[in-house]
Amino acid sequence: MLEKFDIGLQLIKIREAFFCRQCNCIATEKTCRHPTSNRESMSMTEIRNRIRSGIPVPEIMMRPEVTKLLSSRHSKQSFVDM
Ligand SMILES: [Zn+2]
Repeated sequence: MLEKFDIGLQLIKIREAFFCRQCNCIATEKTCRHPTSNRESMSMTEIRNRIRSGIPVPEIMMRPEVTKLLSSRHSKQSFVDM
């Protein structure tokens, strides 16, 4: 059971994040008005599965240093499907 902790972070609700080839960065509908044909979807389930399986995560989805950290044995065991 999860307990509530105040860790000083403010959560921001967004619908969906995607990589926009025109903006050349991660964007949301609020930050990008380019046509949807410029978007690469980002599935957090796909990212978790890639890390668990040792499959590289494309840099447009996650910075390599973050992928490396999450790919460590200890971190892989920390993923929880919700
Ligand atoms: Zn854009």
